[in-house]
Amino acid sequence: MDLRKIKVGDTKTIAALYAESPSDYLVAFRSSRRGPPKIVIAGDRTLKDSTKFQIWVLKPKALQRYFRTNEPPVGSPVWNIMGRLGGLSDVQLKATLDSLANSKEFKKYITKKTLSRPKTFKYFTTDLHLYVGIWDQFFGEKGVDEADEEIVKVGNAKLLFPGNIRPANKAKLIDLVKTVYSILKKAGVGETMTGDVRFSKITAQAVGMYYPKTQDVRIKYVAKKDKATVNTLLHEFGHKWMYEFMPQSKQSLLKDKWKELRLSGAKSAQDEQELRIQEIVDDYAKRIKPYVEEAKRVLKTGDKLTYLNKRKRSIVGDWYISYFKGDSVFLKRGHESIKLKASGLLRKELWKSENPSMQKIIEEGSKISEDLEITRTPKHAMKPTAEWFPTEYAKKSPSEWFAEMFAFSTTGRLEGEPEKFFQSLVS
Ligand SMILES: [Zn+2]
Repeated sequence: MDLRKIKVGDTKTIAALYAESPSDYLVAFRSSRRGPPKIVIAGDRTLKDSTKFQIWVLKPKALQRYFRTNEPPVGSPVWNIMGRLGGLSDVQLKATLDSLANSKEFKKYITKKTLSRPKTFKYFTTDLHLYVGIWDQFFGEKGVDEADEEIVKVGNAKLLFPGNIRPANKAKLIDLVKTVYSILKKAGVGETMTGDVRFSKITAQAVGMYYPKTQDVRIKYVAKKDKATVNTLLHEFGHKWMYEFMPQSKQSLLKDKWKELRLSGAKSAQDEQELRIQEIVDDYAKRIKPYVEEAKRVLKTGDKLTYLNKRKRSIVGDWYISYFKGDSVFLKRGHESIKLKASGLLRKELWKSENPSMQKIIEEGSKISEDLEITRTPKHAMKPTAEWFPTEYAKKSPSEWFAEMFAFSTTGRLEGEPEKFFQSLVS
């Protein structure tokens, strides 16, 4: 796997990424025991004391492909790089990486940079998407920031961007964080906008992450400025608040309350929504039933029905009734057969019959399905709630509960007892 594809939240991959350090001046990161390293970093003194670092970023897969057809002599430095580092001294390794980075042939497989300590830290954790915890383990301090025009501050937070980000995208993301900050300030919890906020790659499903151990927030750098993203960031800064600003005594209160609510089976606002949707579905089933029964009486085995939705190319066209069973209908054409909910036939935008009495049933049944409107409100658009759990996710743990309350309360969507309880935690 390409290092740039390492998912920040993917602990399995990170666990596979291990460092192998022949000496204290040099560290190499790999994602598997075999094959070339992905990054090699060398310091000018021990890694924890160095002020400057040389960094080689390799494309191990492409290198492996290259060497499959152009086998290097066994035991040569290049050959050793393809295997483990064990066969090379530090000096040999650096020399080999340098010669690769400088050669015409290999330039595209390896890039070399020399950076100061704070710039290496930023490059390592932001451009290369690696955990701050991994930095802490091998390199120690982040180093003191020199005057740097790249640094953007919002509140007390320092925003870190990958070097290759497009300026327009960067401006959008700064704007996003400013929006979040103004919401936090208005809600009286602006202090939580502090520490490092880095924009880098992140697991596909998540837009934001907070790491309690290293106290940093990570945001997917393709994140859009929409309500859902703002909501996610509020959630992450809620985690930050809990871990960095909430006294132990209040954290215990939060945990006890969460346990008590979970044991008592408290519902979430989303549960209420699902209950409402279930009612609508049950009601529809009751109202459509007489039309389904009528259709069963009218349709005989071999009767033709035509499916009209051209976008479903595998289904579109003529079908013939095979039989009804319970709520289902089985249709056939040639060797193909499909099973549907019988009520699904009663939609005039989907099905047509040449039999006038069946066509009439389809049209009358359609009137009922037209009334059927099921919409699920996304989390960020949910109305103010006095439910203890604003969302299903809040049931997961005390800290997720707090983060969800935080996102809801700061946007004025938490009411009643839960809002009072939340305020007592942040005041
Ligand atoms: Zn969370």
